[in-house]
Amino acid sequence: MNPINNIFVVGAGQMGHGIAFVSALNGYNVQLFDMSSDALALAEEKMSTHLQKGLDKGKVSTEQADAFTNNLRTTTSIDDCTSADLFIEAIPEKMSLKKELFKDVDKRLAEQAIIASNTSSLSIHELALSTSRADRFVGLHFFNPVHIMKLLEIIRGPRTSDDTYNRVLAYGEAINKSCITVNDAPGFATSRLGITLGNEAMRMVEQGVASAADIDQAMKLGYGHPMGPLMLTDWVGLDVRLGISNYLYDELSTDTFRPPRILRKMVEAGMLGRKSGRGFYIWENGKAISPNLELPK
Ligand code: NAD
Repeated sequence: MNPINNIFVVGAGQMGHGIAFVSALNGYNVQLFDMSSDALALAEEKMSTHLQKGLDKGKVSTEQADAFTNNLRTTTSIDDCTSADLFIEAIPEKMSLKKELFKDVDKRLAEQAIIASNTSSLSIHELALSTSRADRFVGLHFFNPVHIMKLLEIIRGPRTSDDTYNRVLAYGEAINKSCITVNDAPGFATSRLGITLGNEAMRMVEQGVASAADIDQAMKLGYGHPMGPLMLTDWVGLDVRLGISNYLYDELSTDTFRPPRILRKMVEAGMLGRKSGRGFYIWENGKAISPNLELPK
């Protein structure tokens, strides 16, 4: 089994910067690519904050911090991916956009290189077919924030080889994630269940069953969830959740996945959750400060 040493992460947003961070911290040689140099600058700022907080709390050793500094590079040139053993994509959740990227990099990457998508829901097989290496294609679904969340969902497409699976499993374990394996199906295990709960919670707000804050409290205190489904929706981004819900509704054709009216209205109104400052809660400096009392009807 060829070990993975060099990792190329594409998309320096919410997820990509976290994937690059945990990979470099755990000894991998990482390049983080984005077309936007502003996105890269912001990613570097966030990674420095994670590093400092980790050091302050004793969760990151000085050796790891040094390794991180030596191992992480940012780039705006896709040509730099040629030496990657593992290419991880974390660009927006759009099938056509991702396929276009994969088609392009398939020609640039070494024969043995593995391509992984951090998609939350899209078919791994369909994405894989945009390349000539469906056997070396896999889903690696990380969770937000990547440096905190333990789970890594590994999605095997019908043609993902055992060798590819074993190599990414070894990588997942090396970055201290708890890995689960799921066969390729819309929404995998996590998004399918997460959207089910989130959509129903939104319909309950719509119908006036209870406030968003009380629904969240119900799931936290009644079921031991660390975060309620509406707070989680804000955290992930309402636009991201709407995209996944639309896709699952198209693929699975059950009403569970039909996007709730309030979700569509909030996205139209620019209430995207934490990243826009307003969602089911009002957010300041990345923290929820109060419930949003002006939700669309
Ligand atoms: P994001 O919008 O925060 O970041 C996307 C980044 O990709 C941006 O920096 C943008 O400049 C860059 N980008 C766009 N097109 C590009 C291209 N063609 N080449 C290179 N860079 C490009 O998005 P995100 O929330 O990090 O989501 C990325 C992926 O991760 C999506 O597939 C999403 O479904 C998935 N995901 C998101 C979450 C979450 O909680 N946000 C959780 C798990 C998985």
